[in-house]
Amino acid sequence: MTDYQPTIGLEVHCELSTATKLFCGCPNEFGAEPNTNICPVCLGLPGSLPVLNATTVEFALRLAEALSFNVPERSIFARKNYFYPDMPKDYQVSQYEDPILADGVLDVGGSMIRIERAHLEEDTGKSQHIGGGGRIHGADHSLIDYNRAGVPLMEIVSRPDITSAEQARGYATELRAVLLAIGVSDVKMEEGSMRVDANVSVRPVGDTGELGTKVEVKNMNSLRSLGRAIDHEIERQIAALEAGERIAQETRHWDEADGTTHGMRSKEGSSDYRYFPEPDLLPVAPTEEQRARVRGSLPELPAAKRARLVAEWGLAEHDARVLVDVPGLAGYAEAAVVALSAGTPKDVANWCTGEVLAYLNESGLSAEVLPLAPDGLAELVGLVADGTLSRGLAKDVLDEALREPKRPKQIVEERGLAQVSDEGELAAVVDAVIAANAETVESYRSGDDKARKKKRGFLMGEAMKATKGQGNPRLLNRLLDERLSS
Ligand SMILES: [Zn+2]
Repeated sequence: MTDYQPTIGLEVHCELSTATKLFCGCPNEFGAEPNTNICPVCLGLPGSLPVLNATTVEFALRLAEALSFNVPERSIFARKNYFYPDMPKDYQVSQYEDPILADGVLDVGGSMIRIERAHLEEDTGKSQHIGGGGRIHGADHSLIDYNRAGVPLMEIVSRPDITSAEQARGYATELRAVLLAIGVSDVKMEEGSMRVDANVSVRPVGDTGELGTKVEVKNMNSLRSLGRAIDHEIERQIAALEAGERIAQETRHWDEADGTTHGMRSKEGSSDYRYFPEPDLLPVAPTEEQRARVRGSLPELPAAKRARLVAEWGLAEHDARVLVDVPGLAGYAEAAVVALSAGTPKDVANWCTGEVLAYLNESGLSAEVLPLAPDGLAELVGLVADGTLSRGLAKDVLDEALREPKRPKQIVEERGLAQVSDEGELAAVVDAVIAANAETVESYRSGDDKARKKKRGFLMGEAMKATKGQGNPRLLNRLLDERLSS
């Protein structure tokens, strides 16, 4: 059997989070009543003229700074033939030969993946087929919602530099983090505001000539599906080649339920799209002044933020990645660290990647709207650091503080949870435990190391029990050791 190497390129479409559509003033919003966010421009009515939304150019320039793209002097919009009813104009305005960004690069765990281009285009509307199991064949009729027609998209096309499903996931993850950090898209794969298509081909290891025939795989709606679909497609192509078959150049549809890809249609070549320059729009020509303004306002990028959190807070790379990848979580942690009076940034990070993140996942809330403000988390960290709460009790307190509009200190007071750190009080407890367990104390003193450890553990347990679990363990340990060694 021959060994094969996969070659993968990714096309990422993301919806830009502008207030209005690409060429008109209709709201760009998800979930509105069908066919309410429409106007003569996005419906392509005769006599209407498009006007480019300037914010989309600014967003492209942000991406240029983040991923080291070249910004050509001029980019041109073109009409792309589009013959489905969800685009009322029968064409889609996109950029073809002259995209707004060219030759970028993304660092994926040390591998530099080249990006061929990024361009602006308008989204299509949405068809919904009624009857026939939701597919067009056998449907009674179809409904069309044009709210999405004309929503701005950025398409980002990598070079075929990716060599495994895992690296493809890494690329999509890092690109998503960058798009989120620079504020151009909310990049939710599940809601379709980020869509990833994969071009996959295989060829024998060592073959450096032509790439194998590429197949485009669509319809992955999570990063996990992206990895599964690519792995499956690689295996399918290798099996076909081993069986002496030829790979057809086509588009295949990933089916999450059966875990395979299905042929859809033979892929259109670019000649089928009959591109020609859009006569109603001027070339886009960003000025150096615009670029400088964007450069000065670019936020910290995910890779830099991770490196800083590792260096300054002493976090593990994995924890830094979790903080940075969850929208708003790193900002929440940083605000809590600013408010710290006792405890360390690492303590804050641990709570954030543990209990706080679990609560975000469970509630579906974003970190920006957590009922517990960042200085409330700082307060909790302080209560552990100054010995008022054990970690176990702090977990209970945080659990309540995340759900109820109450501060940690208030909960500690209401529930009488404060750890007892009064030395006199604890000394009395230890003395009582020693007096009540004279026999154990005797066998502790005469026993070997193993026996001593066991007896000491028992006495410590008795002392904790006597304080209902609220005795400061460090203090109790010291007092017990003093009594036992005297
Ligand atoms: Zn419109």
